[in-house]
Amino acid sequence: MERKPFRVEDIDTSRPHPARIYDYLLGGKDHYEVDRQAGDQLAVAAPEVRIGVQANRAFLRRAVRHVVGTGVRQLLDVGTGLPTSPNVHESALEVAPDVRVAYVDNDPIVNVHAGALLSHTGSTSIVLADLRDPQAILEHPDVREVIDFDEPVALLLVAILHFLTDAEKPAEVVATLRDALPPGSHLVLSHATGDFADRSNAQAVYNGATATLNLRARAEVERFFDGFDLIDPGLAQVPFWRPDAPPPPRSAEIGFYGGVARKR
Ligand code: SAH
Repeated sequence: MERKPFRVEDIDTSRPHPARIYDYLLGGKDHYEVDRQAGDQLAVAAPEVRIGVQANRAFLRRAVRHVVGTGVRQLLDVGTGLPTSPNVHESALEVAPDVRVAYVDNDPIVNVHAGALLSHTGSTSIVLADLRDPQAILEHPDVREVIDFDEPVALLLVAILHFLTDAEKPAEVVATLRDALPPGSHLVLSHATGDFADRSNAQAVYNGATATLNLRARAEVERFFDGFDLIDPGLAQVPFWRPDAPPPPRSAEIGFYGGVARKR
C-alpha cells in the first residue's frame, strides 16, 4: 500500500483534533498541548468523560466480538481513531482468524500511526477519507481491496457521527453506506448525547477544534438505524449494552449511546 510520506510540519498543532483529544482522554500518547487543554476542559464540563471514553471503547470491543460471532468476517470501521489496545482487528481476531478490516479516518495522524501498526497481509487497510463523502469511502480501492460488498459487512460508526452537523446530513450519510451493504450486515454505532446530564459546556470545548460536537437525543440517534433491526437491548448507554463486567462508577451519567443492529 502506498502512503504519502508524512512530515512533522504537516501536523496541525494550532487547533485541537478529535482523534488526539480522545487519545489523551484514553491515556494514550499521541496528542499535543492544544489537545490536552481541550481534554482537560472537557473533563471540567463532563467530569465522567474519561470513564465514558473507556466505556465507549469497551462497548466497541464487545460489539465487535458479537458481530464476528454471528459470522460476519468483514469490518468497515469509519472514524477509527489513533491505535489503542486492543484495536478492532485484535478484538475481531479473538473470535475468528479470518477477519478483514478496512480502517477509515479523515485525520492524517491516524492514517500514519495506524498504518505503521498494521501488517500488510491484505486483510487490513487504512484509508484516509471523510465520512461526509460516503460514496468516496465505498469506491476507495483500498476499501475494495479488503471488503467484498456482496458478503455481509459490519459497519462501525463508533463515536464519530456526533462530529457531523445536521447540515452535513448524517442520516443521509448512514443511509448511503447502508444501501451498499447486503442483508445480514450489521451496524455498530455509538453517539454522544446530553440526555443524561447538561453537556452544553462540552460542546463549547469543540468550537475551536477541527470538528464540532453535536450532541443528539435518543430519538435522533435511533433514526440512524433506519433499515436495520436493533438487537437486544436496543440503544443503551454504553456500559449497559451487554455488559461483561460490573458497570464503572458514574455509569448513569455517561453520555454515550451505543447500539448494534442487523440489516434486513
Ligand atoms: N471509533 C473509535 C475512535 C473514536 S474518536 C472509538 O470509538 O474508540 C473519533 C474519530 O473519528 C477520530 O479519529 C476522528 O479523526 C474521526 N473523524 C471525525 N470526523 C470524521 C470524518 N468526518 N470522517 C472521518 N473520520 C472522522
